[in-house]
Amino acid sequence: MSEHNHLLYIETVGCQMNMLDSELVVAALRHQGYQLTSDVEQADTILFNTCSVREHAEHKIYSALGRLKHSRRQRPGQVIGVIGCMAQKDQELIFRRAPHVDLVVGTGQLAQIPELIDQSREGRQHRLAVSLDRRDATRQQVSDSFQSYDPLRDPEMRPSPFQAFVRIMIGCDKFCTYCVVPMTRGPEQSRPPADILSEARRLASEGVREITLLGQTVNSYRYAVDGRIWRMSDLLLALHDIEGLQRIKFVTDFPRDMSDDLLQAVRDLPRVSKYLHVPAQSGCDVMLKRMKRGYTVGEYREMMGRIRDTIPECAISSDFIVGFCGESEDSFQKSMDLLRESRFKNSFIFKYSPRPGTKAHELLADDVPEEVKRRRNHEMLALQNQISEEDNSRLIGRDFPILVEGLSKTARKEGLDDPRVGGALQESQSSQGSQAGCDDHPQLVGRTMCDRIVVFDGNPRMIGGFVDVHVYDCTQTTLLGTIITREYQHAGSDLLPILA
Ligand code: SF4
Repeated sequence: MSEHNHLLYIETVGCQMNMLDSELVVAALRHQGYQLTSDVEQADTILFNTCSVREHAEHKIYSALGRLKHSRRQRPGQVIGVIGCMAQKDQELIFRRAPHVDLVVGTGQLAQIPELIDQSREGRQHRLAVSLDRRDATRQQVSDSFQSYDPLRDPEMRPSPFQAFVRIMIGCDKFCTYCVVPMTRGPEQSRPPADILSEARRLASEGVREITLLGQTVNSYRYAVDGRIWRMSDLLLALHDIEGLQRIKFVTDFPRDMSDDLLQAVRDLPRVSKYLHVPAQSGCDVMLKRMKRGYTVGEYREMMGRIRDTIPECAISSDFIVGFCGESEDSFQKSMDLLRESRFKNSFIFKYSPRPGTKAHELLADDVPEEVKRRRNHEMLALQNQISEEDNSRLIGRDFPILVEGLSKTARKEGLDDPRVGGALQESQSSQGSQAGCDDHPQLVGRTMCDRIVVFDGNPRMIGGFVDVHVYDCTQTTLLGTIITREYQHAGSDLLPILA
């Protein structure tokens, strides 16, 4: 392939899976000489990595595409691409709604992007690369058309030198009635353990200290090889032995697949984060059935009990949908009850929005008025915030080892550059930050082993290492602390003295 001298602008919405995809696409293009810009007007290549989970996210992309119609007239050489979930879901519709778009590339074809951009620049016809529809072919054929995109990682291109996402599976077979993911990411396919382990080993040898394993239902991981079935717990055990890796997290868990062997692995492996994200979605059996979640509230409660019994210190977070089809006040109150008794660390609360292509969109009436959805959303959020603050306040006075992630939002707002970030995505995200003079004690941010966010003043050289922090106060979302050690272990080095 030819070397380019192009300017790339990329916008990413959605989940961690999309963030990882963007990192890898950017790395592939930078290898060909592309440079990142945060100024869409300067870019000759514009990519939108999209999400279809909510209508709002799609509207934003279509509006952004609409704004580019005029810039395209002025810059005929510009290539505009829509990639990811919305590309897979809407396909030709994107060209119809925005004819100035050159490329539509689904989640299973990301490896083709550099070549497709080249082809678009040479000839102006639309390029569509998407996977098969799940209803149009056999499972094997559809699976083959969704290729997991896991090229060799380049340390220069990662957003953070000491943290990395590692994909362990793609797709989903649960078919919850509200969700487009089984269509946009295809059938559930686990990656071979040997590939995951070699990627993790390589990342660790390059200085990565924390990996987050990604999968739509990560605890459903299964891979048969050499007469043996690898489960998520087996994978954690094997990853735990990798020298240099100090923290292993994984998201997102599916309640029904929360097996005892996995909980025991989380309990027994000291480098595995004591944190589980297990979306409940509703506390009402009628709603859960309508959502086709495959469990009852009683079963979810039983799972919560097993987590608490096995790993008492474990932090658990959840997702809820409010205003799903037919959700009565009584149903909603049952969700509130579940939230109240479960005392989640935090919850992501969404107002239901029907997605074309899903069973709920086809068969169920979206009959909860918008203002009721909004009110329930606020009520649930207020309850969660109250619980989070109460639970955080119980941690005041305690000490925790913290992996220092970077400058806090406040420090970044004050214009300090984050020395943690040297790679690909940084250029588009923070180029507006000024080169403010270095403060001796800017505010840093990190996380406890249970994934709680902690801010404290410290030397930016600590970023990427572990420090012990004493918690003296809290908000709903954050613990406030002070460093209680004058030594820290920097990523990839021995203990170093530090003036904190
Ligand atoms: S488990 Fe349900 S909500 Fe989660 S990705 Fe699969 S279909 Fe969507």
